[in-house]
Amino acid sequence: MAYSYDSENIFAKILRGDIPNDTVAESEYSLAFRDINPAAPEHILVIPKQAYVNFDHFGAEASDAEIVDFNRMLAKITREVGVAQVAGGEGYRLITNAGSHGVQDVPHFHMHIIGGRQLGRMIST
Ligand code: AMP
Repeated sequence: MAYSYDSENIFAKILRGDIPNDTVAESEYSLAFRDINPAAPEHILVIPKQAYVNFDHFGAEASDAEIVDFNRMLAKITREVGVAQVAGGEGYRLITNAGSHGVQDVPHFHMHIIGGRQLGRMIST
């Protein structure tokens, strides 16, 4: 079993600097930027800089340093954009989609941070 990564996906192009992005935070291993089609007032995507296709790929092959960096960045952003309760917010949702059943559009692992309004129930269908 092997993972195959399409280096022409849109987030790979963002990482190469081929197309612009609205950066929120950047670290050695991770990049966070605003979703181009936000589902809520705060909608930020966090991606690893290395080529991982989805969550299970990242969890299997990323280094401990990459995984820690990614999770620290996610948590930091929830506080910095003010959706974390500790920062005075009302909460947020983290979502990652994988494959066709998960309705993943961009085949580079990413976590959505969504907040800033009351969200609906998680599963609609
Ligand atoms: P997913 O269905 O989980 O793969 O979600 C992909 C997300 O990427 C969607 O929410 C899109 O709005 C977002 N997206 C696509 N292209 C861009 C882009 N160039 N910059 C920022 N977000 C993007």
